Amino acid sequence: MADCIFCRIVAGEVKAHAVYENESVLAFLDIHPASRGHVLVIPKVHAESLDHLEDRYLGPLFSGVKTVMGLLDRALKPAGMNVGWNHGWAAGQRVGHLHVHIIPRQRGDGGGGIQSLIHSFVAEDLASVAAQIKTAQ
Ligand code: AMP
Ligand code: ZN
Repeated sequence: MADCIFCRIVAGEVKAHAVYENESVLAFLDIHPASRGHVLVIPKVHAESLDHLEDRYLGPLFSGVKTVMGLLDRALKPAGMNVGWNHGWAAGQRVGHLHVHIIPRQRGDGGGGIQSLIHSFVAEDLASVAAQIKTAQ
């Protein structure tokens, strides 16, 4: 997609600090890193989100994520990593080309897990929530 910043990185029109590439994925440093070694792994084909990505690209994307996690582990030896993506504007997605964040973590860095993103939720009956979700199958 011509006006997509990540497609332009794939095409070599916009510079990025690439750390890994194969025929299906590109991984590069986030320009505003949340931690040292914060990497974005993207499919080379344009897809706004996971549900827009053709199934045949799912395996290669997650294989790429696993490979980059291994690279980070060996090179930077973090104590852990947060791995995931923001799906949709309300969830914080600002670039409309699917990208998996890999954020290396250090002990005592002050951050929490992804469950700590929302603090205002009041829990309700889990059985009714599960029943509601299952009606969509
Ligand atoms: P998200 O909020 O999940 O859409 O994350 C988008 C991420 O892309 C942010 O963390 C940005 O810092 C990062 N980003 C945006 N433009 C670039 C770029 N040109 N090169 C590298 N990272 C970028
Ligand atoms: Zn794109």
